[in-house]
Amino acid sequence: PRDRPGGLPVSEQRMRLVLLGPPGAGKGTQGQYLTERLGIPKISTGDMLRDAAEDGTELGREAKSFTDQGRLVPDELILALVRKRLEEPDAAEGYLLDGFPRTVVQAEALESWLEAQGIRLDAVVDLVVEDDVIVDRISKRRICPVCHETYHLVNRPPVKPDVCDVCGKPLVLRDDDRAELVRERLRIYHERTEPVTSFYRQRGLLISIPGDHPVKEVTVAIIHAIEQQIG
Ligand code: ADP
Ligand code: AMP
Repeated sequence: PRDRPGGLPVSEQRMRLVLLGPPGAGKGTQGQYLTERLGIPKISTGDMLRDAAEDGTELGREAKSFTDQGRLVPDELILALVRKRLEEPDAAEGYLLDGFPRTVVQAEALESWLEAQGIRLDAVVDLVVEDDVIVDRISKRRICPVCHETYHLVNRPPVKPDVCDVCGKPLVLRDDDRAELVRERLRIYHERTEPVTSFYRQRGLLISIPGDHPVKEVTVAIIHAIEQQIG
């Protein structure tokens, strides 16, 4: 398809993918499995912003003033961050974008960067999960602030309570996962990010996957749909 020889199994192709969906839909969880399987880096703007905040950089402090209120970080800041990340050598052949683009302006910017290089995205996977399920999931999400591993108190608990299985650090509740912020984040998702799904549908790139099934089933559905999409 397009810029690569056809016929390669999915695991041997380098792809450019986007994972869309509301906060808590499972983008990070699925993204981790997919990138391991597909041999591409996961680029999560949320993780990058949390790292910057943790490191106390100017960008981190500025971004946190938005994320702590459940608001989106301004497009200019995000675009500068992602553009620089996409120039790193590990992103030369493929990547999975998690949490970007979140506005039509961001989607247009990404499209024009890619067009300038004569390439395009291979697929955009939209994880569809209802708001009430999201609210419940987010209340039980815990993350490792160091290695970004994501847990769920019931569905995916750590082996030792409150400690990361991978790096042994104490797990935390994200500052923006407080109950009072989640409905606001969902409102902003519907207003600003849902139009991004129409943007990609118009371009024939959108794959919608029901995200309210066990994690492994969702992973299998995504891989299957990507195989169909890229032929
Ligand atoms: P996102 O990156 O889209 O915000 P996450 O991957 O962090 O979402 O998932 C949100 C929460 O829901 C986490 O606690 C995660 O462990 C849990 N989760 C993810 N996928 C599923 C699923 N298919 N079923 C149940 N819980 C899930
Ligand atoms: P996430 O980890 O993807 O849920 O992102 C956490 C928060 O970071 C979001 O609620 C936003 O405030 C901010 N953020 C992450 N990615 C973007 C983006 N592409 N555009 C604007 N804000 C973003």
